[in-house]
Amino acid sequence: MAEYLSICSRCGCENPIFQSVCKKCGSITRDRVPNIDFWKIVGRIIESPKDAFIEIIQAEQKNYASFVLTASLFKIFLLVSLIVGVFGGNSFSLLSFGYFLLICVLVIIITGYIIKKVLVREKKKEKVFRIKDFYAVFSYSLVPQLMGLIILFALEFIVFGEQMFTFNPSPFLIKKNFAYLFLALELGIIVWNIFMTKMVFSIFFIKKLPPYIFSIIILSFIYFLVIIFM
Ligand SMILES: [Zn+2]
Repeated sequence: MAEYLSICSRCGCENPIFQSVCKKCGSITRDRVPNIDFWKIVGRIIESPKDAFIEIIQAEQKNYASFVLTASLFKIFLLVSLIVGVFGGNSFSLLSFGYFLLICVLVIIITGYIIKKVLVREKKKEKVFRIKDFYAVFSYSLVPQLMGLIILFALEFIVFGEQMFTFNPSPFLIKKNFAYLFLALELGIIVWNIFMTKMVFSIFFIKKLPPYIFSIIILSFIYFLVIIFM
């Protein structure tokens, strides 16, 4: 839990990083971060993700976290629907997305509780872990999906038009090179997402637990949920 705690330079006491004032000696440990500046933080997530996530934890208001979560999950839902829909004949439904979104939020909160339980056991009485911090940084770790929604999906629609949704005929038959290029970029977004979410877990976790495994498990579970709620 090293990253989630900071040591007070005056008294040497360990404080959770969301605190800007030392709980023991009362000295100011850092500047207050009242709000999250959306574009600034997105830029920092691309540049130096760990610093960006720490800044999100330090922010008193977790601005846009739910927006990033919803838009990113929409991207995942749309992509899986498109791919699986080709074989299953299912079509996109906004109501299904609503249920999917609700269950994902529950999954994130439950994951937060599981981490809290692990940390409480490690740190005994110090219940410093806040689920709202986890919810906010996890949401922001999905920023690669948001980028995919804004940039990649727009480009795919320009190139393939309605064929992208109907697969009649498949984009892989019409514009083969473009289809493989987009497939590679979509996979890149998934890998980038796994890496970002891994960083979130590494901020909260004790070194013993492998953050990559947790990142892959929770993201796979979200992709799997789409198939259930489609
Ligand atoms: Zn202190």
